[in-house]
Amino acid sequence: MSSLSQHYKGMKLILSVDRLDYTKGIIERLDAFKCFLDTYPKWRGKVKLIMVAVPSRTDVGTYQQLRDRIEQAVSRINGEFGTVDWTPISYQFQNRPFAEVVALYASADVALVTPIRDGMNLVAKEYVASKQNRPGVLLLSEMTGAIDELPEALSINPHNTRSVAESMNEALTMNKREQQRRMRDMQRRLKSYTVQTWGREFMGDLEATAHSRGKHYRKHMKGEHRNEVLDAYAKATSRLIILDYDGTLKDFVASPRALLAKPSLKLRRLIKRLVDDERNHVAIVSGRPKKALDKWFKGIDVTLIAEHGAWSKYDGKWSRVESDFPSTKKKLKPILEKYVSRTAGAEIEEKDYSLVWHYRNVTPELAYVRAGELKRELIHAIDDDEIGVYTGDKIIEVKPIEISKGAAASELDAIYEPDFTLVAGDDYTDEDMFRELAHQAVTVKVGPGHTRARYRLNTVAEMNQLLEELSRQKNN
Ligand SMILES: [Mg+2]
Repeated sequence: MSSLSQHYKGMKLILSVDRLDYTKGIIERLDAFKCFLDTYPKWRGKVKLIMVAVPSRTDVGTYQQLRDRIEQAVSRINGEFGTVDWTPISYQFQNRPFAEVVALYASADVALVTPIRDGMNLVAKEYVASKQNRPGVLLLSEMTGAIDELPEALSINPHNTRSVAESMNEALTMNKREQQRRMRDMQRRLKSYTVQTWGREFMGDLEATAHSRGKHYRKHMKGEHRNEVLDAYAKATSRLIILDYDGTLKDFVASPRALLAKPSLKLRRLIKRLVDDERNHVAIVSGRPKKALDKWFKGIDVTLIAEHGAWSKYDGKWSRVESDFPSTKKKLKPILEKYVSRTAGAEIEEKDYSLVWHYRNVTPELAYVRAGELKRELIHAIDDDEIGVYTGDKIIEVKPIEISKGAAASELDAIYEPDFTLVAGDDYTDEDMFRELAHQAVTVKVGPGHTRARYRLNTVAEMNQLLEELSRQKNN
């Protein structure tokens, strides 16, 4: 470490360490450094940017191109501003032993972490952890997840060259006591939420899942249970069939967009056959918006419940539950948007009475961290007892608590007074229906996970198969 400080004697050091990757904003960072030298000539000869880029995917052509672009940008800046005694940028494209990197962290006056998109961002945390009692300033991209845990960092927008240059100047001129105060606060927070804590939470969830899989087979609807259900159905004169859509009748598709999720012709025919039996009342109870359900089940005389019960369509007319959720929604939407821009693969789905953050396409480690962060931030932002934040299958959802599938299911039960009821669903919102109709209904959970349903079917195909069998039951 001492050799490092001797080597760069009297010079302020700005450090960046990253994998060579487009998402790291390396070119943007170089633009900002050039702008910094242009705008603040007093720092020329007194600052050095040390850029350590760790090789990654060197076989891929585009990364070769990125490497070339970086090297050209570095030589341009060094050529334009460098003197006999001073080279502004030291660029090192190599894997360095971790101990050396830690030594660099410890000596650096400023760490620059500027990804355009990123996950946990270990570099930021390693820099803070390496500082012990030393001063230092962290410049951290607002696109990273780490920014929530490290609010004492100077947050930057890596796309805004000018403001990054200004932040570099601010970091280099910040007084030592202020630097130490910020470092201490960040270190304290990092200690309380370590990788171990994260790991423990993650393993806990994993075990819960494994546990529920163990129970899995006991409930499986087969053999005599299945025959009992088929019998009861055949004997009944008024039947209510309540079906969730996604994950129950239709396999999940990667995107929540409507086009891919629409029912197949086969599924529509199956529903139609059930509806055509005059003893049956069929209701699709879904989290989907009413527009999608209307379109998908057009021409089939089925009761539709949209948005988890916010809207219902009996006898061809939509009506809705009263709520002032739209104003809350306006306030919360920017929070979800922030998490979409920061999380590659995440999407927002907006409905009249709910906001959903989907993370099916996000890498699991990142999804785990972000979902937790988002949930915490939402709970913090909501000051209304009537609004709930829910965790579902690869989603975080915000919606009024009075609106639930459970309430919709009891309403259906009250209206039709059936002597046979089947309720099928796959996620936590369906559990409300299972609970409401626990006594009178045959409840079926589709897929793994804890449930209060009486039976389980493993897949959407098995669920469709059961409905096929029911639709072909002969009159008794
Ligand atoms: Mg579902």
